[in-house]
Formats: sequence, C-alpha cells, structure tokens
Amino acid sequence: GAMKETMGFQTEVKQLLHLMIHSLYSNKEIFLRELVSNASDACDKLRFEAINNAGLFESDSELKIRVSFDKEARTITIEDNGIGLSREDAIEHLGTIAKSGTKEFFGKLSGDQQKDAALIGQFGVGFYSAFIVADKVTVRSRKAGLPAAQGMEWESKGDGEFSVEALEKADRGTQIILHLKADEEELLSGWKLKSILTKYSDHISLPIQMLKEEWDEEAGGMKATGEWENVNKANALWARAKSDITPEQYNEFYKTISFDFADPLAYTHNRVEGGRSEYTSLLYVPAKAPYDLWDRNQQKGIKLYVKRVFIMDDAEQLMPPYMRFVKGVIDSADLPLNVSREILQESRDVKAIREGSVKKVLGLLEDMAANEAEKYASFWAEFGQVLKEGMGDDPANKERIAKLLRFASTQSEGEAQTVSLADYVARMKEGQEKIYYVTADTYAAAKYSPHLEVFKKKGVEVLLLSDRVDEWMLSYLQDFEGKELQSCAKGGLDLGALEDENDKETKKKVEDEFKDVLKKVEDLLKDRIKEARVTLRLTDSPACIVADEMGMSEHLKRMLKQAGQ
Ligand code: ADP
Ligand code: MG
Repeated sequence: GAMKETMGFQTEVKQLLHLMIHSLYSNKEIFLRELVSNASDACDKLRFEAINNAGLFESDSELKIRVSFDKEARTITIEDNGIGLSREDAIEHLGTIAKSGTKEFFGKLSGDQQKDAALIGQFGVGFYSAFIVADKVTVRSRKAGLPAAQGMEWESKGDGEFSVEALEKADRGTQIILHLKADEEELLSGWKLKSILTKYSDHISLPIQMLKEEWDEEAGGMKATGEWENVNKANALWARAKSDITPEQYNEFYKTISFDFADPLAYTHNRVEGGRSEYTSLLYVPAKAPYDLWDRNQQKGIKLYVKRVFIMDDAEQLMPPYMRFVKGVIDSADLPLNVSREILQESRDVKAIREGSVKKVLGLLEDMAANEAEKYASFWAEFGQVLKEGMGDDPANKERIAKLLRFASTQSEGEAQTVSLADYVARMKEGQEKIYYVTADTYAAAKYSPHLEVFKKKGVEVLLLSDRVDEWMLSYLQDFEGKELQSCAKGGLDLGALEDENDKETKKKVEDEFKDVLKKVEDLLKDRIKEARVTLRLTDSPACIVADEMGMSEHLKRMLKQAGQ
C-alpha cells in the first residue's frame, strides 16, 4: 500500500477543534448525533448517485448505520455502507472547513465560552465533534465504485495533524472509530448509547442498528448476542402522522437540522395533497437570529427531499429571502429525483410549494401574534427587520405582512417595537385621518425629533421608525385599512380636521408678522432650500428642516449618501 502520510489541519480546523473541546463539553452527547447524521448523509448520497449508476450498490443495497462499542479497547464505532471516502475526499473533507461564511464565523467569536458555544452550534460542529469525547479518531473507508485495494485509513489525535494511508477494505462505506478519553467510560454502555440515539437520531430515515444484548448470568452483566437490532423508528419524522410525534421530538429534530442548541419558537407541519402539487413541509421559526441574518444571500434554511430521498440543503428557491430565518424540510412527491438548482428556479411545482409554504409561515405568525403575544414580541425582536423586507418582496402577501408589523411609537414604552397598525388605528383621535410617522437613524433621534412637537400638543400618536429597512419598507406601505401613512417631516403638514379654527387664525397672523423674516431666510439660504414658511408644527424649537412632499426624506438622503450613492 501507499506510504503513511502526515498532514497539518487547516488553521481554522485547529481553532474549531480547540473551541469545541473547551466550549461544548456540556453538550458532548451531540458527537453521536453528528456522526450518525454524516453516516445518513453518506447513504443519501449513495442512493442519489445510484439513480444513474446502480452498480454503486455492489451486492449490498440495504443501506444502514451500525453503532457498536468495545469495553476492552475503549472504543465506539459508527459504521455505514454509504458513499464512502477516497483518500482525496478524506484529506479535503476531514482536514479543512469548506463552508461558506467560515471567515465571518471566526470573526464573531468573543472568547466567552457560552456565547461561542451557541455560535459553534449554529455554524455546525460536524465531524470534528468526535474529539469532544475521543483523544484519537480512526476513519476507515472505501468509496463506492473503487476497488477494495483503494480503501484508506485516516487518523488523528485532534492536536493539529492527521495521517492517511492505504487500506484494503472489502466492504464499501465508512467506519469511524472513537478512542475514548479517560473519563468517558459512561459511554461504553449499550443502554447509554441507545438512549442518546433515541433522543437525537430517532428521526433518521435509515435503520440504525446496535447489537442485541441479553443478561448473562455467568458474567453477571449484559452480553451481546451477536444479533443486530434496529434502535430507531427508521421513518423520517416529517413523514409520520402529527399525532405520533411529541413536542420533544419536533424540538430535537429542529436541533439536528438547524444546529441550534435551543428549542425552536414555533413550528408548522403540513401535508398538502391535491391541487398543483403534493408535498409535506415541516417548518420552524427559531428562537434566536443567527449571526448572519442580515445577509440576504445566506439562505441556509430549507432541506429539499423528493419522496424521502435527500436532494439538497439550502434550497433557496423554496423560501423567499424575507423568510430566510425559517428552517425545515420540504418533501415533494412530484419533483424528479435528478432535480437541479437550475430546474428548481423554473419549476412551477416549486413556485406552488414556495407560495404554499409562505402562507403556512404567515399563518403560524398570525396565530402567535393573536394568541401568544409574548412569544410574538420575542419573534419580532429577533426577526422583525427581516419580515419588513416582505412588504417589498412579496406584493401578494403585503396586506397580511402589514398586519404583522410592529413599531415603537410615542405612546409605547421605550425602544421595543410593540404597536401594530391596527392598535394605532384603534387609538386614532377624532378627526384624525392619517397614520403619522417619523423616521430617523436611531430611536432616540426619532423620539426627540422636533417634528413631533405639534403632535404631542394635540395628543396624536406618532410611529417612531429607526430600522435601516424602514424607509425602503415605507415606500411599499402607503396605507393601512384605508388610512394613508404620512411622514411628520414632509411637506406642508396637513393636520386636516385636527387643526382647529384657532390654529388657522394664529397661523395667518404669524405669517403676516414674519413676512420679512421669511424673505430674509430665503435670500440667505437660497441655494439650499426651496422655501421658508411659517408652521404650527413646532412648539418648543424655533425652526426645523422638512422635505418636499414629493422629495426624498432627509433620512433617506443620508442613508443613500452613506451607501455612496
Ligand atoms: P457536513 O456534514 O456539514 O458537511 P461534517 O463536518 O459533519 O460537515 O462532515 C464533513 C464532511 O466529511 C462531509 O461533508 C462528508 O464529505 C465527509 N464525511 C463525514 N462523515 C462521512 C461518512 N460517514 N461517509 C462519507 N463522508 C463523510
Ligand atoms: Mg455533518
């Protein structure tokens, strides 16, 4: 065979290993979930490639995962007959991190173990989590389609380097052998491993097998009978009836697909039959925003399956960008197994699935807003800014989204966005025809805007908008329930019936009195303003700048300038 070769891990892998071993110890059981999930992925990949090349199955087409342990040797072995790894595959996949966003991830680490642990979770701990419990990991593998002589053995102590050498391996697939650290005896038990598997991996659609154990009188302990038995239901979770799934199982499944350590905020599980297309969706709203939520291109939420066969991660065509916080699985009964991203883009079935799924998520949020106000408030605090993008992204659902919007206002407590447009309308003053708002860079700037003075005096509520997306969103939100939205900082502020006779008289009087002053101001600032006029909108400040009714607001101008336009 080829010589044993030793190589160094990519710097990021070393960093990740170090972090993981130190931050994830309290979640150490996830190593098994990760390795089983990789074994399941490897079987999915084989099944997928075998669609066009049945020879890859060799004489062994019953895909499965086996977990065993050896008390004497102090090892746990996770074995699959999936696609396998060639020598090159192993060097590439078990020595580097190829994920997008790797740089951003490392930039976000704070050194605070708890915070970093959650972040590592989101990033995906994967294969390297084996080193939380093992001080040496051996991977023996042979890739489907390669001859037995082209197997390989990869080994590492997780300390910065790994070795690869050739290995004769008759059966296709991968064996991961964990040499446990000194304090991990607890894991060398059939009962313990089984309980971890049922907790984290019950939803895996392939059989996970362990050796059957029986009480042995002579040995005074459990002894393996040599017979394998299934320890999971081997039935994809989303394909089961809702009534057969406990909330805990829904939550654990969420954790396996999202890499989140926390429970989701909410989920919706639906089977859609009849109509354009037939599919099952299981969609989750996380409790916390991921570190890269702001990035509209980072859509890492939806896994696509076709008739239980895994097709792809991050199927961005199945969810619009403004719902990029949604995680879950969509399993279609109609799409072809060899569907590509390009085909997805044009498929009418996909369009129907996306539209249906968006409606389910909106329904879930509406329910939450109506029945679980606190939960909705926490959803809004995490994801509100992203949902606002929907006002422009999704004209068909604009009205439903508008009802889900929440704002800070002159009548709400502090910075929290809690006021819905419906709340606002219900509180409108007699004679008030419009919904008033003010935009600014920060909440404080909005709250103390001089434009609010007259509204305060008249007791009229004003929405205080200071998120980056607000100006953009407002261009799609002209009215709500027949009430026009009106900026307090634009044009000749028409207060309509709110302005009384007294006001009008005062204004006239002041206009006459200040004619000369206005003229002087206009002359002095002639290249910089369009006109100077008397206003009733100020009560404490002497003057303010307002935008032309048709023009851009000052705030938007500043934002465009910052963006270099
Ligand atoms: P991810 O699963 O998110 O890709 P992991 O760190 O879990 O990241 O695994 C890294 C890569 O190692 C996988 O993408 C796959 O290419 C390879 N790999 C891991 N386990 C196996 C396995 N049992 N069989 C084949 N390939 C594997
Ligand atoms: Mg993985």
